[in-house]
Amino acid sequence: MEIIRNTEQFVMLRLAYGEELREKLENFCAENGIKAAWFTGIGATQKMEIGYANLAKKGYDSTHFSEHMEITSLVGNISLKDSKPFMHAHGTFARHSMELIGGHIMTCIISATCEIKLEKLEDELNRKHDEFTGLHLLCAE
Ligand code: ZN
Repeated sequence: MEIIRNTEQFVMLRLAYGEELREKLENFCAENGIKAAWFTGIGATQKMEIGYANLAKKGYDSTHFSEHMEITSLVGNISLKDSKPFMHAHGTFARHSMELIGGHIMTCIISATCEIKLEKLEDELNRKHDEFTGLHLLCAE
């Protein structure tokens, strides 16, 4: 991963072939003391696991894909979960046929590139386990 630009307000990142989105973003935020952020991105993936929130199950139904797809839209945030930076991101992905699929990103391995603009937010955002959904939701503190 390359830092293209790093200002007080935002950072532009470029992920390279074979790098995993969650691992790179969470580590970057941990190393740089970023405890709250919002990001968008575009790029391409070669392998990923995406989920669909299943409230009855209090978790996610997830599916693995091993094919090259365009990341047509990547949107997410960084907050603290158990005191560590945690990525929550959703994405839409285009197959070679131009059909779209999308969902909650568990893991996403980059192929050609992934260009991310991460906007740093003040202070920190926190997540707490929520009984009703079974998910770790943003909470006011
Ligand atoms: Zn989600």
